[in-house]
Amino acid sequence: MSDLPPIPRVHPSSSERLRPWQRTAAGAGLLGPDGGIAATIFAEMSALATRTGAINLGQGFPDEDGPAAVLEAARQAIADGVNQYPPGTGMPVLREAVARHQERWYGIEVDPAAEVLVTAGATEALAATILALVDDGDEVVTFEPYYDAYAALIARAGGVHRTVPVRFPDWRPDLDELASVVGPRTRLIIVNSPHNPTGAVFDAEVLAKVVELAERHDAVIVTDEVYEHLVFDGAHVPIASLPGARERTVTISSGGKTFSTTGWKIGWLVAPAHLVTSILAVKQYLTYVNGAPFQPAIATGLDLPDAVFTDAAAALAAKRDVLAAGLLAAGFAISLPAAGYFIVADAAPLGFDDGAELCRRLPELAGVVGVPISAFVHPERRADTRSLVRFAFCKRLEVLQEASTRLAGLGAR
Ligand code: PMP
Ligand code: GLN
Repeated sequence: MSDLPPIPRVHPSSSERLRPWQRTAAGAGLLGPDGGIAATIFAEMSALATRTGAINLGQGFPDEDGPAAVLEAARQAIADGVNQYPPGTGMPVLREAVARHQERWYGIEVDPAAEVLVTAGATEALAATILALVDDGDEVVTFEPYYDAYAALIARAGGVHRTVPVRFPDWRPDLDELASVVGPRTRLIIVNSPHNPTGAVFDAEVLAKVVELAERHDAVIVTDEVYEHLVFDGAHVPIASLPGARERTVTISSGGKTFSTTGWKIGWLVAPAHLVTSILAVKQYLTYVNGAPFQPAIATGLDLPDAVFTDAAAALAAKRDVLAAGLLAAGFAISLPAAGYFIVADAAPLGFDDGAELCRRLPELAGVVGVPISAFVHPERRADTRSLVRFAFCKRLEVLQEASTRLAGLGAR
């Protein structure tokens, strides 16, 4: 995908005459006016960084390895011959570790045999859930900005994507706006807290409103919690822990962010047994299974002591602070993220009102790559996000310091 030429991002208002694959791309704004398909913003910006040698603060992946015990467990599993197809729902050792993890961190009791499904990353969990549960014309609500895969998968499933805006710099949804978007045709409400791209954490009142609306309209809550262990202050609150939520919630996570193993693609979902069965029906024909030796390794990770998780979050918070200071010194306005990998910066104070244009020129202007927030919104709905750029801080401190130095030159052009 990364070799595809960049083409303008367009969001057709009607996808009626599009082929299914075009509909998928169009959902995420990747279908060109001539029918061409663009690479995802992450692939495009990583390719730009490789081509120009710029520091890549675009795609969110760490530049250091995670816990040695996790890496060693994968090596050991390969040596021990764990190299053939695992069971379709995932290896018991991982399903049991996921169940223990939910109980240890959140007090949520889970039946590992019936309520856990191992997937090829959170992405496959999202894909299988959306394809399994969304029928033609069903409405799916997300907050906006949204992770691009949601829009692409909703479009592929024939769903109608409805969004609730969250706005720079505090990113808190208005509860009346939320209530006005959820209705009797809503099949899914997709929650992503901690949130990509903004790093926002939804407070208890917002989460409770989602549950109330889901109950009222009999919708399923799909919650993407891949950043659950990268919260900088306080504890992560999974929406499934709220009263009334568990029986209608699909909780999705993955080992990629927690253990700095984004290339392993070991994810999972936790849901009531009847939803797991429906989702498995689709999942078993997407990948069937994946990552045999990585499954016990992620299980090892999930059982590591609390301090491993909290120390990793503290180290990441220090990185956030370095990049935040650098961006402020360079003249950006920022929203300080409460969690996750990313800072959203406003380039308007520096005289750039088009974040996408700035991201294309940033390697040449400053030797740095970022991702425009325009890739996470429908541009017509969200002109207010035009000058915003997302920068990843899941990088070594010296890389962030160097990026800050380079960005400091931007204002002096
Ligand atoms: N959801 C969100 C919000 C993400 O940021 C990402 C990417 N890291 C994913 C899902 C995909 O996760 P995975 O790599 O486990 O498929
Ligand atoms: N989730 C990562 C990000 O937001 C990258 C995902 C991808 O490359 N598809 O940067």
